[in-house]
Amino acid sequence: MNTTRMPALFIGHGSPMNAIEDNAFTRGWQELASRMPEPKAILCVSAHWESRGSFVCAASQPRTIHDFRGFPQSLFDVRYPAPGDPVLARRVADLVKSTSVHTTSEWGLDHGAWSVLNILYPQADVPTLQLSIDSARPGAFHHALGRELGTLRDEGVLILGSGNIVHNLRTLNFHDPRPTDWAVRFDDAVRDRIAAGRVHDLLDWRALDRDAALAVPTPEHYLPLLYVLGAQRDDDTTSFHNVDYVSTISMTSVLLS
Ligand code: ZN
Repeated sequence: MNTTRMPALFIGHGSPMNAIEDNAFTRGWQELASRMPEPKAILCVSAHWESRGSFVCAASQPRTIHDFRGFPQSLFDVRYPAPGDPVLARRVADLVKSTSVHTTSEWGLDHGAWSVLNILYPQADVPTLQLSIDSARPGAFHHALGRELGTLRDEGVLILGSGNIVHNLRTLNFHDPRPTDWAVRFDDAVRDRIAAGRVHDLLDWRALDRDAALAVPTPEHYLPLLYVLGAQRDDDTTSFHNVDYVSTISMTSVLLS
């Protein structure tokens, strides 16, 4: 591992309940945290902040957003009180040239961010900010933005994408976690392309598999991966973690370090 720069990490987040559970997935995330140097700050791109245009949250104390329904009160009681980093937010807005990134204090940390961070960094003491996803934009847009943000890795910033490579809630079988063949095939195809260095194949995910529209019915959970891959460097080592499924959600995580 290159010790002078932070890794870039994509986490397959799955159920919000992972925030407060001890299971194979959350243990995998703890393992990942133990392999990484302590970040100076975290820039998170979460599936759960979609916007028209690109925004970075500049709140000095981001609020914990409980953006879900039908979960136990214990999940609504979770607060993730990590400080923000308004200076870094401004820097992100200045750094990106491929599009206009606007600062806002109107967001906080949504569950795509805090459900993962509550496991990775339970002390909540690392300054954390989120970048929104303009999900109407094509894959190349997100990849290019990730490339620009990737320079922050040299300044100790963890680029964290939080989504799911395969994410179809409509087909999800709550009683049987075994994956469908198309879920496995699509996740395999994505990992194969990453391992082969054929990241550009991933920018048009619809062409990856005949059932891509089932694996990625809407792009928001897939797109955080493209930010992380955009931040990839030639000498990074790639590793896959939590390669497993909950029905038609894949939990695969990707570490570039
Ligand atoms: Zn999600």
